[in-house]
Amino acid sequence: MKVAFQTLGCRVNVYDSEAMIEMFKKDGYELVDFNESADVYVINTCTVTNMGDKKSRQYISRAKRKNPQATVAVVGCYSQVSKEDVMEIPGVDVILGSRNKSDIVYHVNQARAEKRQIVEVTDKLILNSKFEDLGVTGYEGKTRAFLKIQDGCNRFCTYCIIPYARGGLSSKNPEKVLDEIRKLSEEGYTEVILSGIHIASYGHDLQEKWDLLDLLDQIEDIDGIRRVRIGSIEPMFFKEGRMDRIVKLTKLCPHFHLSLQSGSDRTLQRMNRRYTAGDFEEVVAELRQKMPDVSITTDVIVGFPGESEEEFQETFDFLGRLNLTKVHTFKYSQRKGTPAYQMKDQVSGEIKDIRSKQIMTQSNEKETVFLESYLGKSLMVLYEEGKGGIHFGYSANYLKIRVESNEDIQGKYLETKIVGLNEDYLIGEFI
Ligand code: SF4
Repeated sequence: MKVAFQTLGCRVNVYDSEAMIEMFKKDGYELVDFNESADVYVINTCTVTNMGDKKSRQYISRAKRKNPQATVAVVGCYSQVSKEDVMEIPGVDVILGSRNKSDIVYHVNQARAEKRQIVEVTDKLILNSKFEDLGVTGYEGKTRAFLKIQDGCNRFCTYCIIPYARGGLSSKNPEKVLDEIRKLSEEGYTEVILSGIHIASYGHDLQEKWDLLDLLDQIEDIDGIRRVRIGSIEPMFFKEGRMDRIVKLTKLCPHFHLSLQSGSDRTLQRMNRRYTAGDFEEVVAELRQKMPDVSITTDVIVGFPGESEEEFQETFDFLGRLNLTKVHTFKYSQRKGTPAYQMKDQVSGEIKDIRSKQIMTQSNEKETVFLESYLGKSLMVLYEEGKGGIHFGYSANYLKIRVESNEDIQGKYLETKIVGLNEDYLIGEFI
């Protein structure tokens, strides 16, 4: 039996798909490309924008066109938020919500055998803080392993559907997280990436309260693990008295993706973000002062409802002053079911385009300056898979480095001198 996957949306969805693929393989399924004819198609959907919904529907029709006899399973955020809509799409056999993925193989096999539609979507997900442990981590090459340690969010930013689509904050049991990291270390992994939807709140839902920092402290003691990265995180995590403990961690990589969203306090307030631009700036300054070589990247949304020319300019000037390594720009997209959908003064697509281009151009310039500052310096690089004598790896602060070598250097940490740069990576040589 053949199964094909299509995954939309965020990194967390990618991990969930990897876990589900493993479950199908264990049941004897062979994984094939989504464009091939398969017996089962799984579409792990996204609903973060209306475009996510549209794309999810397109993949469902594409699967049915490829093999009209196939079983089609639609899982994840779109099925969670719009279960009824998905049920009405012709040819959908299995519909599973955001926290109903662990029994996917059982449901698919049952739908095939009984030739009926199966719907398993936990209602009122926002009140549900049970972590659905899919038990498998995602791997990138043979050097880095991803661990989803948390799901859902209780923050309710006004533009975001996630609390409704993925439910409330739910954290993976810390002992299980630590056990999995120990196992990864025994298998030879030296770098782990902790990720989730809102990892800054990790552990706050657990009976015995934990904090992400407690987890990071414990990982310090796991032999074999040399680097720990954390996914996108809210700037305020670095406040609340944590900074001094954070800078003592020897394994935590000095690369942070701090979500800013706007450099204007008025916009941030309408977004229901719980910090000011000043708070963000303080965190950046402190990190730079206490962590040499720290690299800070961020996300910005342009064209949020009511974003005036003046507010946008505040964001633009703020970013101009901060000199971050990279700014990922998103054009605000109206999402039904969120408070911002109803807000007045929606910004036109044309203005969003202009603003987004301005931020991107600024970001590219800043990135080049940051990369150029490494010319002539040396960095410790963990090398990943290479082909034909060309290898790529990453420094602790997440700079991508290319070297030429005929040796097998995969999984090795090697001191590398930076001798040049390309558009999005540095060129290195061994010292
Ligand atoms: S913090 Fe805000 S933007 Fe992030 S997932 Fe939660 S609600 Fe969405």
